[in-house]
Amino acid sequence: MKGCPLRCLWCSNPESQNPWPEVTHRDSVCNKCGLCVEACETKAISTDDHGVHIGRQLCVRCGKCVEVCVPEALRFIGREMSVDDVFKEIARDADYYQDSGGGVTVSGGELLYQPEFTAALLKRCRETGMHTCIDTSGYGNTAALESILPYTSLVLFDLKHMDQLKHQELTGHSNELIMQNLALIVARGVPMIIRVPVIPGLNDADDEITAMACAVAEITKTAPFNLLPYHRYGMGKYKMLDQEYKLGELAPPTDAKLQRAKEIVESFGINCEIVL
Ligand code: SF4
Ligand code: SF4
Repeated sequence: MKGCPLRCLWCSNPESQNPWPEVTHRDSVCNKCGLCVEACETKAISTDDHGVHIGRQLCVRCGKCVEVCVPEALRFIGREMSVDDVFKEIARDADYYQDSGGGVTVSGGELLYQPEFTAALLKRCRETGMHTCIDTSGYGNTAALESILPYTSLVLFDLKHMDQLKHQELTGHSNELIMQNLALIVARGVPMIIRVPVIPGLNDADDEITAMACAVAEITKTAPFNLLPYHRYGMGKYKMLDQEYKLGELAPPTDAKLQRAKEIVESFGINCEIVL
């Protein structure tokens, strides 16, 4: 799902943040022909010694630049689809899900940004007996979440920081609504896995991991933790979208740091895995 209200500094899917289709530019395959500049009627595209730039404020998403770009350096990310469209794609692999013990995961972006669509899609999947999973930041309307949970077999729930101000700094919003939604999922008894992105220097200190484990342990002992080590795989995508990657050359956490975080979580009686 494209569209997310959070702006986590480490986000590896910046193309999923805005809820509309966007033009991306890959400099590595651009031949600098300039055809896109000529094709763009709103003059959103310019070139300089560093290559092609897209003025996002001027882009009306007409797609004319994409049509003339022979090496496909320009592409659209995101397209509008109906519930029927998506369900047809999913249903093509229904046998595979059944044979492998798998299912469907709706992810993003943030699926709570499009709750009616998500509920309708998951309902269709459940009606055919598929296992359904949502992968959410937890930041969204609580009533919207409530409308989705009856069609959800498993929730993957992100937890990033327990300090509200720090959470605001790291993601753009406080965690108040997230914690409220976490409690709702527990109350509804939907199985859940807590997923913590471990970001060096931002949320991996002993007291920060302790605070997250403690907050979860107070409301449920059955939700396991997955620790997700920070990585830089999404860095290149920021450039393709003319966006700045704010974490620079931050290195992934060390094995020792991850082990330490795992031990802290387990000390609260919570099952914990490092997911690479
Ligand atoms: S049309 Fe494509 S290849 Fe040509 S300058 Fe534009 S982005 Fe580069
Ligand atoms: S999508 Fe249309 S408006 Fe946007 S940059 Fe391309 S040609 Fe210009």
